[in-house]
Amino acid sequence: MKVLLTKKYKFMKNFTFDDLHGKVCAITGGAGVIGNVIVYALASVGVKVAIVDYNEERAKEVASDVAANTGATIIGVKANVLDKSELESAREVIIEKLGPIDILINGAGGNSPQATTSVEQMQDTDLDNLKNTFYGLEMEGFDKVFSLNFKGTVLPTMVFTRDMLQKKSGVVLNISSMNAYHPLTKIPAYSAAKASVNNFTEWLAVHLAKMGIRVNAVAPGFFITNQNRFLVLDEKTGDYSQRGQKIVTNTPMGKFGEPEDLQGTVLFLLSELSSFVTGVVIPVDGGFNAYSGV
Ligand code: NAD
Repeated sequence: MKVLLTKKYKFMKNFTFDDLHGKVCAITGGAGVIGNVIVYALASVGVKVAIVDYNEERAKEVASDVAANTGATIIGVKANVLDKSELESAREVIIEKLGPIDILINGAGGNSPQATTSVEQMQDTDLDNLKNTFYGLEMEGFDKVFSLNFKGTVLPTMVFTRDMLQKKSGVVLNISSMNAYHPLTKIPAYSAAKASVNNFTEWLAVHLAKMGIRVNAVAPGFFITNQNRFLVLDEKTGDYSQRGQKIVTNTPMGKFGEPEDLQGTVLFLLSELSSFVTGVVIPVDGGFNAYSGV
C-alpha cells in the first residue's frame, strides 16, 4: 500500500466515549464486585449490557439496580463460563433481546481456599505436615481454579465474538491480575491461570487483528472483594491480615484500590480512543507491579 504524503491530517480527534453509545456488551462475571462497577461504567456511556453470570439471581438484581439508576438497557442472563452449550443459549438470548454482540468482557474468575496453600514458604518443620504445602493441594481444587480463570476466558470468547467476525469489528477485554506478572505466594493455580490469560490476550490479538477485532486486558491490583476477603482481612477483627498489610506496604500508593478505579481504563480500552491498541495488558494497581519492594 502506498502512503499518501498529500493526506491532510486532523491533529485532534474528538475525545469522548460517544462511539460506545448503543453498542451491545456481554460481560461474564458481571454480577461480581468488579463486574458491577464495570457495568455502571458501560451503562453511563449508553452501552446495552448483558450480565452473563452463573448466579442468575444476582445477575438480574445487578441488572435492574444499575438500569434503575442509569436508565440503561441491561439484562441478566444465566450461564456457566465453563459450559459451551449454556454460553450458546445465552448468546441467543442476548441477540434476541439486545442485538449482535460488539463487546465482550471476560470478568468471571477467582480463587478458592481449595487451591491455596496454608504456608507461604515451605520450612523443615512442614516436612511432618505436608498438607499445608504445595504437596497437600488437591488437584480437583487446582483444576477448578485454573479452568475458571483460563478456560472460562477462552470458551466465552469462542462463543461471544462470532457476531464481531461478521461485522469485522469488535473488542474483547480480559480481566487479568498482578499474579500474571509476579505470582503471589499460596495461590499457584490462580497465578498460572492469570499468566495464561495475559499470554492468550496477546495470542488472540494477533490472530484476530485482520478481522477488525481488538483484544486487550486490564490487570487489577488489589481490591477487597469476595474472592480474596478471606486472605486479606482478619475474620475476627476486620483489620488487615498480615498478608493484607503486606499488599498495602508494597503498593506505592499505600492503599487497596476502589473498584471504580478500573472504570476509566476499561472504557478507554473499549472505545475508539484506543483504536490502534491491541494485545496489551494495562495494570491498574497503584504502582504495585512497578515496585521491587526496595
Ligand atoms: P467476585 O467473586 O465478586 O465476582 C466474580 C463473579 O463471577 C461472580 O458474580 C460469580 O458468580 C461469577 N462466576 C464465578 N464463576 C463463574 C462461572 N463458572 N460462570 C459464570 N460466572 C461465574 O470477584 P471480583 O473480585 O469482582 O473478580 C472479577 C475478576 O477480577 C476476576 O477475574 C478476578 O480474578 C479479577 N481480579 C480481581 C481482583 C481483586 O482484587 N478482587 C484483582 C485482580 C483480578
